[in-house]
Amino acid sequence: MTHPVTTVAIRTERLIHRTVTLDDTGDVALNWNVDDPPLSHEEAIGRVQWMQANHAANAPGRLVHLCLAIVHRETGRIIGWCGLDQRDASKARHVLSVAGRALGAVRSNTMNQSPTTESNHFRLHQLAEGVFAAIATNGGSAICNAGIIDLGGQVLVYDTFLTPQAASDLRQAIASLFGPLPCIVINSHYHNDHIWGNQVFAAEAPIIASRRTRALIATEGAEEFKWYSANSAQRLEALRAQYQAADEEQRQELLLWMGEYGGVVEALPHLRVCLPTITFDDRLEIHGARYTAELVAYEGGHTGHDTVLYLPQAGILFMSDLLFVGFHPYLADGDPAQLLKALRAVSPLNANDIVPGHGPVGTSGDLALMIDYVEECLETARTLVEAGHASEAELDQLRVPDKYAHWQLPRFYRTNIRFMCSQLRPASG
Ligand SMILES: [Zn+2]
Repeated sequence: MTHPVTTVAIRTERLIHRTVTLDDTGDVALNWNVDDPPLSHEEAIGRVQWMQANHAANAPGRLVHLCLAIVHRETGRIIGWCGLDQRDASKARHVLSVAGRALGAVRSNTMNQSPTTESNHFRLHQLAEGVFAAIATNGGSAICNAGIIDLGGQVLVYDTFLTPQAASDLRQAIASLFGPLPCIVINSHYHNDHIWGNQVFAAEAPIIASRRTRALIATEGAEEFKWYSANSAQRLEALRAQYQAADEEQRQELLLWMGEYGGVVEALPHLRVCLPTITFDDRLEIHGARYTAELVAYEGGHTGHDTVLYLPQAGILFMSDLLFVGFHPYLADGDPAQLLKALRAVSPLNANDIVPGHGPVGTSGDLALMIDYVEECLETARTLVEAGHASEAELDQLRVPDKYAHWQLPRFYRTNIRFMCSQLRPASG
C-alpha cells in the first residue's frame, strides 16, 4: 500500500524548502506573487488548498506536483517558491520564483557566505566612517529608523525597530560591517516601533534608556503590547481589503501599515518586550576609541521622555521621533511646547546630518521646518479654539497646508490639531 506524498521539508543552513499548510495563509497571501501586491485571505486559502490537493496525487516514485515555499530560517518568512508541475506531462515544468528584494539574502544563504547588510526592512546609509543610518523601507516591518555606530571597540545601536525580524537583519548587518564586536543598545523612547527588536540583542548587549523611558515601556508600553496582541490580525485583514480598492498613492500608505501589522502578526508568537537594563536621568556619555556618543533626554517632547544621540566628532545627530522628515510627525503622546524647546535646544549644534525617527536623513533645514510645523499647528489650534470652531465636525474639514501637502501620513495633521485643541479647551469642554 502506498501513501500520498503530501508534506516535504528540506533544511539547509539558512533556508527551509517546505510544503505549506493553512497556518501559513497570512504569509502565502503576502508572498504568493513575491513582487506583487498581496492576495486576499480567501484567495490565499484557495491557493493552499489547491497545493494540498495536488500533493495528494503524489506517491512514492510518482511525483505529480510539488510546490515548496522557500522559507528564511531565521525570520520564518516565505521569500519565494520552487517546485515541479507534471500534472500535464506534455507541459511539465520546473518553477523557481524568488522575490527580487530577497535575492541578496538568498545568495548569501544558499552559498553560506558571511552575513549580509541587505534587508527587506531597511537600507543602510553611511554618514561617516563607522556611522550608519538604517532607514526603514516602506512595506517592511522596521517602521522606524535606527542608527549603528562603531564607537571604536564597541558598536552602539540606536533603536531596534518594530519587529525581531527587522532587528535580526540589523544584527546581521552589524556583524557584516564590523565583525564580532560587543554591542550597546539605546532605546530612544517607549513607542513599540523603536523597541520591540530589543529581544534580538538582549542576551548579549546592555539596553540603555532614560529612567523615565524605562518606566514608560513598563506601563504605556505594556498597554501598547496588549492592544497590538488583540488587534493586529484584524487590522491586517482590513488593510488588505482596502489595498485591493486603493489607488497608487493610497497603496503606498497602506503598504506602510501592512508592513507594521503584518510584521507584528508574524512576530507575536515569540515577541517579548525587553526592558532596558541600564538607565540614566538626563544625560549620558559613552566613550569609544573613535567617537564619543552624547545622549540627552528631553522631557515631554514626542513622548514623556525622548533621548537624542549626538556624535560631536562627526557632527551627526540621531533624533528619533523628535524629528520626522517628509512625514507628518505624531504629536499626540507628548507636549508640543516641550517639543519646541527640545528642537530649539539641538538647533545650535548645526549638525551636518540629522537622522529622524521616520523619513530620510535630513539637515538643519528639516529641523527648522519641523519647528515651523509645530508652531503653525499650535497657532491653528489656538485660532480654532478661540473662534469656537474646534468641534469634531469642523476639525474633520481641516486641510493640510500646502507647505506640508507632500508629506506622508497626512491623517496625523488632523490628529495633531485635534490633540492641541483638546489641550487648549477648558477641561469641562
Ligand atoms: Zn514614537
